[in-house]
Amino acid sequence: MAIELMNEKSNNENILEVSNLKKYYPLSKIAVGKRRAYVKAVDDVSFSIKTGTTMGLVGESGCGKTTVGRTILRLHDVTSGQVIFNGRDLAKVPSRELRKMRPQMQMIFQDPYSSLSPRLPIGEIIGEAVREHNIVPKSQYRAYILKVMKDCGLQPQYFYRYPHEFSGGQRQRISIARAVALKPKFIICDEPLSALDVSIQAQIINLMKDLQEQYQYTYLFISHDLSVVEYLSDTIGVMYLGSMVEMGDKKKIFTNPMHPYTKALLSAVPKSNPDEKMNRIILEGDIPSPVNPPSGCKFRTRCPHAMPVCAEKAPILKEYDDGHKTACHLYSQD
Ligand code: SF4
Repeated sequence: MAIELMNEKSNNENILEVSNLKKYYPLSKIAVGKRRAYVKAVDDVSFSIKTGTTMGLVGESGCGKTTVGRTILRLHDVTSGQVIFNGRDLAKVPSRELRKMRPQMQMIFQDPYSSLSPRLPIGEIIGEAVREHNIVPKSQYRAYILKVMKDCGLQPQYFYRYPHEFSGGQRQRISIARAVALKPKFIICDEPLSALDVSIQAQIINLMKDLQEQYQYTYLFISHDLSVVEYLSDTIGVMYLGSMVEMGDKKKIFTNPMHPYTKALLSAVPKSNPDEKMNRIILEGDIPSPVNPPSGCKFRTRCPHAMPVCAEKAPILKEYDDGHKTACHLYSQD
């Protein structure tokens, strides 16, 4: 029987639907007579991803994008909200069944070295969960792992080598191989390039693109690097202090950003034409605390366009142009 990595293609257009997702962490110390305070890491976030596409999730560090990824995968409990994966509400899936579904949802981490066990050879790192979840019959196991390694640009002789014998880029290839060996439908990539040299980044991006083309993976690509996100993504979500402030098709976000925060982020992306002038928008001040965010619009303390209404009313994320949404009082909120 031919060894095939190809997924059963989902009939649902959206493989993932996230609605009103919240993840709050209670603070341990509370003063007598005061209400318990919470770090609102993810605060009412909604989005969906079409099967076989990539959504880029961007924002400064601490904006909650990694927590969104981990909460979707149920690595953290959800405070409230709904995550529908492949038509199933994950909160309602019994834990035994969820365990069986795990291979379909994988994650690639930022630091490939700390996510790989130093005591296991590469073949075992990639194959451990393949055996545990019976992804292929026993008789095909070794050939299957070698096929996955080949797909990810890893030589067969690496099978018995250990993580410390590899460069950062090769280690990230091993992490990717470990994820795709489980025949996932959906992969969350959490800053997978940020620990790598720029030249190696391009190789890993190309690998991820090739694998997606071949096997129809759906990616949620979490990054602070907008130029990488532009290259890889079909749609983009911009987060600030736990909330989604802008979302839409990549082209629309890059050619017509609406939210002042998105405009500031894009102004920092280097231009491909060195003669083109960069009109960098420098944001004043630090990101406020997620324990005690500003009233109204959370961005108002750093926004160059803040108005009195911005302190009084939180803007709602509203659609303005064919899927292009933003949350800002500069646009009609009716
Ligand atoms: Fe700026 Fe007001 Fe828009 Fe917030 S709502 S981004 S403060 S203009």
